Amino acid sequence: MADLQAIVEEIHEKLTPRLGEGKVADYIPQLAHVDPKKFGMTIVTVDGEVHKVGDCDEPFSIQSVSKVFTLTLALGKHGETTWNRVGREPSGSAFNSIVQLEHEEGKPRNPFINAGAIAVSDLVLAGHTPREAIGEIVRFVRYLADDDTIAIDPEVAKSEQATGFRNFALANFMRSFNKLDHPVEHVLGVYFHHCALAMTCTQLAKSALFLAASGRNPLTGHTVVSKQRARRINALMLTCGHYDGSGDFAYRVGLPGKSGVGGGIMAVAPGKASVAVWSPGLNHNGNSLIGSLALEMLATRTGWSVFGQ
Ligand code: GLN
Repeated sequence: MADLQAIVEEIHEKLTPRLGEGKVADYIPQLAHVDPKKFGMTIVTVDGEVHKVGDCDEPFSIQSVSKVFTLTLALGKHGETTWNRVGREPSGSAFNSIVQLEHEEGKPRNPFINAGAIAVSDLVLAGHTPREAIGEIVRFVRYLADDDTIAIDPEVAKSEQATGFRNFALANFMRSFNKLDHPVEHVLGVYFHHCALAMTCTQLAKSALFLAASGRNPLTGHTVVSKQRARRINALMLTCGHYDGSGDFAYRVGLPGKSGVGGGIMAVAPGKASVAVWSPGLNHNGNSLIGSLALEMLATRTGWSVFGQ
């Protein structure tokens, strides 16, 4: 196999002069304080090798990357009936768009746009209080990463709760179509808290390893999901994980990936490795600008792509 440590170091070195490019998300006030020049990257291979560089062990707000974990939980609880509540088609519109929701009568296009993830939070809430559902999500992520130190940043959750008018609009709109089972405040409480999970690149890469290894985390031996489900979650990440930038990410990187407005991207090279990268500056689609470039360089150097060498 290629010398992955040398590759991540080379990527870091090549991108260092460009750190700070892109725009840090500031619509969630707490995120605006992050140093735009941060950069971290971790690769965990299916054989358990860890290769990392830069600020890879500094926690950051994973934001929408968490939507992969809540979808996995919802599928575990509700199986295929999950798809009665949320679709699985790329949206071609912004992550927080409300436009399609009216045409589609409150059923969001996919689980990774905000409306879809809010629908998924509603499914995770089934049978729980919001506090229990949030606890279940945190325990699940700790189990995936095999790391009990992972926690939610309460300041980020509060910051988003105070300013998330658009998410309130999306949730109320869905509720008006009778597409939410629980009160809007409860559903958004769960949603804002899982978006506020703080994780490092290394923790994030470890937590995605089950998706690179047919549903089983080779580091812990835990079977998280079936092979088929792992494949399907990867398919959704590839087609919908970067919102209206998903086509461009597939073209340039060619790996299933999920981004967040905190500047994180989690990507999966099936059968090979999981990768997490963090750089806070975003491109016009709300995806990490330098993070996408880092993954593009990694895919070029390793030949990892679901579309061929
Ligand atoms: N919590 C953020 C929001 O709802 C998540 C968006 C994102 O990471 N793309 O706006």
